[in-house]
Amino acid sequence: MDLISEEEFSRNLSIVKSRVIEAAERTGRDAQKVRIMTVTKTFPGSAVELAWGQGLRLFGENRVQEAADKYSNLPDDIELHLIGHLQRNKARLAAATFSCVQSIDKLETASALEKHLDSMNTEKKLDILLEVNTSGEESKFGIHTKEELFKLAEQILAQTRLNIRGLMTVGPFTGDRDEIRRAFVWLADLYRQTGERYPGLAMDILSMGMSADFEIAVEEGSSMLRLGTALFGQRP
Ligand SMILES: *Cc1c(COP(=O)(O)O)cnc(C)c1O
Repeated sequence: MDLISEEEFSRNLSIVKSRVIEAAERTGRDAQKVRIMTVTKTFPGSAVELAWGQGLRLFGENRVQEAADKYSNLPDDIELHLIGHLQRNKARLAAATFSCVQSIDKLETASALEKHLDSMNTEKKLDILLEVNTSGEESKFGIHTKEELFKLAEQILAQTRLNIRGLMTVGPFTGDRDEIRRAFVWLADLYRQTGERYPGLAMDILSMGMSADFEIAVEEGSSMLRLGTALFGQRP
């Protein structure tokens, strides 16, 4: 597969950045508070090098094994997050590979990560985000209600190796901009409420917005955009 050229990537990145700035300005936000994650799933390792060469340092992958292979001998100033669903049998490799797992929606997976970190002879702590299903689409993962979210947050608070840093969602796949906005407004509200209810948590990452909807996400308070196709073009 042919990866796009450095020039094209650089042009895509500056377009994304100016769209982020414009969306932030529309709502009086500081665009500096919005981090851009480069999503490299299905792209080769050279995609990581391309983005790294343009100054990007935050990366996302949605499969554990693919990420472990792709990122095994790349610069260690990279911050790598798991953004796809985590299966319990991949928890050990995930704990070793990522600095943050954004897709926690069950106590079992959180406990599996904690257990493996305990057994790994390391002081490592893992950041996690709780994934909320804001679209109601059955095919998507994530917690469905505020009550479930608070319950899971409380259970994970008891675990010493996991730091809850915020919330993540995959917005509805629809052309209806209002529906997407409602999903992001709801997540931002849950994020604020969770922070207020558990002041001990750092709660500083609101991960929402992908290539098709990132401007709405910025307008509604996102602090982390997860972008693949907006940067690299269509996935192979
Ligand atoms: C693939 C993926 C992205 C990036 O999607 P694009 O539409 O290519 O920007 C973001 N978040 C998650 C969870 C993904 O799986």
